[in-house]
Amino acid sequence: MKIRLGIPSSLFYYVYYPMWHVFFEELGVEIVLSGQTTKTLLDKGVKEAVADACVPIKVYFGHALSLKQKVDFLFIPRIISVNNQTIYCPKFLGLPDMIRHGLSDMPPIIDVEIDSRKGWFSLLKAYIKIGRRLNKNKLRIIFAYLKSKKAHKYYLSLLKKGLHPSQYIEHLNGGMEPVLPSYDGNKPDFVFAVLGYPYEVHDYYISSGLVSKLKEMGVKVITIENIALKKSSLSGKLEKRMFWTFSDTVLNSAYYLFEENNIDGIIHLTAFGCGPDSMVDTLMEIASRDHPEIPYMSITIDEHTGDAGIATRLEAFYDMVKRKKEAI
Ligand code: SF4
Repeated sequence: MKIRLGIPSSLFYYVYYPMWHVFFEELGVEIVLSGQTTKTLLDKGVKEAVADACVPIKVYFGHALSLKQKVDFLFIPRIISVNNQTIYCPKFLGLPDMIRHGLSDMPPIIDVEIDSRKGWFSLLKAYIKIGRRLNKNKLRIIFAYLKSKKAHKYYLSLLKKGLHPSQYIEHLNGGMEPVLPSYDGNKPDFVFAVLGYPYEVHDYYISSGLVSKLKEMGVKVITIENIALKKSSLSGKLEKRMFWTFSDTVLNSAYYLFEENNIDGIIHLTAFGCGPDSMVDTLMEIASRDHPEIPYMSITIDEHTGDAGIATRLEAFYDMVKRKKEAI
């Protein structure tokens, strides 16, 4: 019988699932996902996680809990750094421990550390450790790793062409072939950037379907995954770059878009209780004051965020951008 490996469909899922999908399939492991975030799942996470955790961590608790009885192992790698320069938020670093000690009777957790700062081949070594925990042959693991890296590269190339992570992931999970956005002859009225962490922006439930709502209004939406940053836009503005990988990307994207001045509006989606965002949100607000020509809005989500509130704010923002454009 195949080993059943549980992957919570949250946090790193939006970045690495296409790679993990190929890696574990090549190893002959059955992947069990927790699926889309729902109210029930969020309520369970809120009940179990520490009260002052950010909403994505509470959501993650709910996802992990929903896999409890269904799998032989839970896959929660301790991803520290993948670029040698920035590290992931401390909550990610402590994620396997939070789940292990915060929830009772959970299946064994595969929590191999992934840290590219530990030298050449550190990522390969980490994946070999993961495969060995599943009792797989070393050669087979190396082959699976190389194939999964290729899949990751392909996934990133699609994102750079404008695809959103959830579109590709849905396809991997049995959905339709994703279609790259094309607007030939039918140019959208506006292009908005929705900047925020992938697990907020692309989680339909916790973002209250923000991206879909904008698309329904006829707005083309770009997210951090679609922006091809060739160099850091932070240099010359901050003394050093942000420590945290996602925060660094979000802030970089914002500075880049403000400078390019080729976007109709920027929305920052931030989570209540997020430590790094208390800094990122403030810095983005300051940057927006230097660029009053680009409408900017920050939306904070938490476990009580309702659809109606988000819809009202988006409509108001859309109307403001429209009036501004008509006045030119
Ligand atoms: S970056 Fe913020 S939202 Fe993300 S896990 Fe860390 S504290 Fe939570």
